[in-house]
Amino acid sequence: ANEQLDPENPQAKALQYVHKSAKEGQDCANCALIQGSDGEPWRPCSIFPGKLVNSEGWCAAWAKKP
Ligand code: SF4
Repeated sequence: ANEQLDPENPQAKALQYVHKSAKEGQDCANCALIQGSDGEPWRPCSIFPGKLVNSEGWCAAWAKKP
């Protein structure tokens, strides 16, 4: 099973990933790169294969969902 992304993971650090977004209006749940189902607290993300990111998280690759 996929495991939660560790913010200390080198790729996560490089993209400044955090479990809790500090950017108003930007979080993983409304990012174009999120996968999985709406409402799930931990979801796959296409740039962190095999990991789960927090729906309320954020990273520097955030892009507005079309
Ligand atoms: Fe969250 Fe970053 Fe993945 Fe977007 S790209 S879902 S902000 S971890």
